[in-house]
Parts: sequence; C-alpha cells; structure tokens
Amino acid sequence: MIRRAATLALFLSLTALVTGGVWWRALNDALSRLEERGGADLALAGDRLLGQLQRYREMTVLMARHPEMLALTLDPARSAEEADRLLRNTADMTRSDELMLTDTQGRVIAASGPEVDRQRAAMPYFARAMQGALGFHHETDHATGRRYFVYAAPVFAPEGPVVGALIARIDTEAVEVIWRGEPIIVFFTGEDGVVFVSNRDELVLVRLDLLSGSADKDRLLRREERIVGRHAVWDLDGGPHLPRRALHLTRELPVIEMTGEALVDIMPAERQAQLQALMAAAICLGLGALVYALAERRRALAVRLAAEAEANARLEGRVAERTRELSEANDQLRRAQAELVQAGKLSALGQMSAGLSHELNQPLMAIQSYAENAGLFLKREAPERAAENLGRISDLARRMGRIIKNLRAFARQETEGMTDVDLVLVIGAALELTEARLRSAGVTVDWLPPARPVLVRGGEVRLQQVVVNLLSNAADAMAGGGGTITLRTSKSGGRVRLTVADTGAGIAEPDRIFDPFYSTKEVGASEGMGLGLSISYGIVQSFGGTIAGRNRESGGAEFTVELDAATRGAKAA
Ligand code: ADP
Repeated sequence: MIRRAATLALFLSLTALVTGGVWWRALNDALSRLEERGGADLALAGDRLLGQLQRYREMTVLMARHPEMLALTLDPARSAEEADRLLRNTADMTRSDELMLTDTQGRVIAASGPEVDRQRAAMPYFARAMQGALGFHHETDHATGRRYFVYAAPVFAPEGPVVGALIARIDTEAVEVIWRGEPIIVFFTGEDGVVFVSNRDELVLVRLDLLSGSADKDRLLRREERIVGRHAVWDLDGGPHLPRRALHLTRELPVIEMTGEALVDIMPAERQAQLQALMAAAICLGLGALVYALAERRRALAVRLAAEAEANARLEGRVAERTRELSEANDQLRRAQAELVQAGKLSALGQMSAGLSHELNQPLMAIQSYAENAGLFLKREAPERAAENLGRISDLARRMGRIIKNLRAFARQETEGMTDVDLVLVIGAALELTEARLRSAGVTVDWLPPARPVLVRGGEVRLQQVVVNLLSNAADAMAGGGGTITLRTSKSGGRVRLTVADTGAGIAEPDRIFDPFYSTKEVGASEGMGLGLSISYGIVQSFGGTIAGRNRESGGAEFTVELDAATRGAKAA
C-alpha cells in the first residue's frame, strides 16, 4: 500500500516536472520568436521615425542657407515680409508647425506665423546653433498638451561667423499619424523616462515606472518587470487597450537622444505554452495509466499463479498423504494376508489333528506290542523273531518321524520368496499329511508320481498348504460315501498344471467358492471358516499362477492350479 502510494507520488512529481519543463521550454521558445519579430518591428519603427525627422532636418538646414534668410540677418532694416512669406509657404508645404529666423540674440526677425514663442535664446539647442552645429530638441507644451521636435540650424555669413539661426518646430502628430494602429506597441522615451512618441494614445506623456510619487505633471503607469529566461516581461495595469503582460524590448536611438521601446502581448505565447504543457501532461498521464493497467494485469496474473501454485502444492500434499495412507493400508493388508495364511494353516492343522493323532497313536500302539513281542521272543531265545519285531519298530518310528517332520514343515511360517519347487515332492508331503483323514473317509487316491521332478516357481510350504486344502475339500465333499481323488500334472508352454478331481457332490455355487468366509459347511464342525480357498487363491496369485474350480460333467468337482514352470526344470526336462 505504502509502496503504491510512493510510486504514485513519484509518478505525479515526474509528470509535474515534465509538464513544467515542457511549459518553460515552450514559453521561452515562443517568447524568443516574439522577441525576434518584435525586435524587427521596433527597428523598423525607429528607422521610420528617424527617416521622417531626417526630412525636417534637411529642410531646416536648407532653409538656413536661403539667401533671403542671410540677407535679413545681415541687414535688420530690410523688410521681413519676403522672409515671412517664404517661411509660411515652407511650413505649409512640409507640415511643419512653425518656422522662424532669429538673430544671434534669439530675437525673432521673421516667422511663419504671428504667434511664435519668443523665448529661444536660453535653450541648449539654440546655443548649439550659435556654435555652428545643428541643434535638436523635443519639448512639450503643457498648456495644450502638444509635443514638438525642434531643429535649430545656424545661418552663416559669407565670411564664416554665425549670424543667426533658423528654428523649425514640428508637431509629433505629423510623424505619429503614419504608424498608428499597428499591433505592436511602440513608444520612444526621452532621457527623462517620459514617453514622447507612441502609436498608442494611452502611453503618450506617460512615465512607465516602478515608482509611484513621481513629478506631479507626469502621468504614471505602474509596471513590474520580471525576467522570464532571457526575456524581460512587464506586468502592466494600463486599461483595456494595453496588454496585462508584455514582452519589453528596447533599442537605443542616440541620434535623437531617445530610447525606442516596444511591448508585445505575450498572451498567445502563454496560451501556446499552456497547450503544449497540457498535451505533455495528458501524454504522461496516459502513459502512466497504461503502465499502471499493465502492472495491475501482471499483478493479478501473479496472484492467480501463486494461488494455483498453492492449490497445486495442497493437492500434491493430499496425494502424498493419500499415497502414504494407501501404502500403509497395503502393508497392513499384506500383514493381514500373511496372518490369514498362517491362520488357514492352523485351521487345516486343526482339521487334520484328529486323523494325525490317530496316525501317531496307531504306530505307537503297534510299537508297544512289537516291543513286548520282541521281549517275549528274547526270553524264548528266538532272536530272529525278536530282531524281526525290532525291525518293524524301527520302520514305524521312521514313519512317525516323517509325519512329524511334515507337520513341522507345514506349520513353519515361510518367509523366503520364490524358489524352484518340485511339485511332486509337495504333493507327496501333502498326501502324507492328509493320509489319515483320507483313509478314515474311505477315499481312494489316484496318483502316479512322475519319475522326474516337476519344477515350478513358488514357495514350498505355501504350495503344500494349497494342495492340502484342495485334498481336504475333496475329502469333505465325499465325506462318508467314499470315492476317488484323482491327481494329475501336465506341462505346456512354460506352465505347469495340477488338477485335483473328486467324485463328490460337486460345487454348489462355483462363482462364490473363492470369496472369503464363503462356506457350505457347518460352522463348528471339523470344518473351517470358508477361508481355505480364498487363502489358496492369494497364495497361487502371489506365485504368478491361477487357480480355478468347476464341476465335472461326470459328477464331482475339479480344481486346477496353474503355475510358471521353473526354467531350470524346463531345461532338465
Ligand atoms: P471351507 O472348506 O472352510 O468351507 P473353502 O474356502 O475351502 O472353505 O471352501 C469353500 C466352499 O467351496 C466350501 O464350503 C464348499 O462349498 C466349496 N467347495 C470347495 N471344494 C469343493 C469340492 N471339492 N467339492 C464341492 N464343493 C467344494
């Protein structure tokens, strides 16, 4: 928030700076152009004034050399009539206000009109004429408000000395009228700072000054001077006909001892500068808005990307958690399966226990009676017979040992993975384990073990568990009625197939037999919990094999276990 405010402030200051710079530059450029044009106009106006005065100056000098003028000054007794007429005609022709001829004392001896100002002797220009130079002066008649330029030319005697002066008085109206109404304000000020000639009536006889309280007779126009760049600008309060702000230009005119000045209204320059500054500001603001919009869009995009990244991270986290949960569940499942396998085995052992105890009891009893017999035969001194009995004891003990070994192997929890297993040996051991049960059920086993081992991939104990289960189920299916269990192995295409077929009642619901806890047997009887086949299914599948059960057309059920043949066995075959 603070950063954005700071950026905005910076941008606004920059915009203000640029706008100000453009305004300043444009104003200065425009003022320079005005100054150039105004300077030319002022020079022209000055030249024009000088040009016009030049006419009167030449007229005065020529008139002073007129023979009639010289004659009159040399001979005061001579009639002035002719000279008066000459001066009147010349004044009319040149639109001079007054022409007069004086002697060296300043006394008028001839004039263009009757009412002439006769106080000339004391004036500095008269003194100059008496010295033989051309006198020049400007003066104001405060009674009438009229302004005059005055020339005084010496009248020389043929031998050299000045004998009189010819004085010409020219009304400024005669020169002003020509350039009135021009757009540029031009005025010429004397050394006293009062405007003497101007093309604006408002300015005539006005003192343009910073100071108030000047001489009473002066009209005063207050003005302030400012310097704008290299230009002098005046602030004026001069009524509707004068600009409020104007460029002030000056040009010295030493010939007439005056300063030409010009005032050029700077309003157009100001307006142009303002327009350019406004345009610069608009461009800056527009660019700023564009940049701002782009930045906003980028920010929104970044926010969206961040949100998406966060959502992604959350999703990934959830996936990881779910994966962990799944793998935990998998581990649990695997442990539960292993426990089930073991439980299934224990259940099978339980089922077999009755038969097994009988199986172990029977040889024990037999061993007892053979031992007694052997004792009797030894007493009767018939050692051959005793030895025969002892031999039988030894056979029986070996048989018991084998049964116990099988039991131990069956009960063992198999931890190792897969090895090459001889299916024939597995079937033999399973038959031996279940022999007692099968016999008590009156079941015949049809099994001709092949002479060579049939090697498959799997775990020996678990595979034995599967076969024991199949044999037990077959015995259950034929309980009481006797029957035959047929075992066959075959091999084709890298797979070994074992079929266990019985002549029992057949499977009631072939689709459900592998479901856990599916059982048609009474719970609590010697039978299990409907887990045998589902455990077998899991075991065979873990070996990469298949197990299936179906009813035979001739009656009874047939179960098929298919396993990968061991490659070593395949080579040996
Ligand atoms: P249990 O033997 O404890 O019932 P199983 O999973 O081993 O559990 O068997 C499930 C069911 O499959 C048995 O209850 C039985 O109905 C059927 N079954 C299995 N083997 C045979 C067979 N050889 N003949 C007929 N039915 C069978």
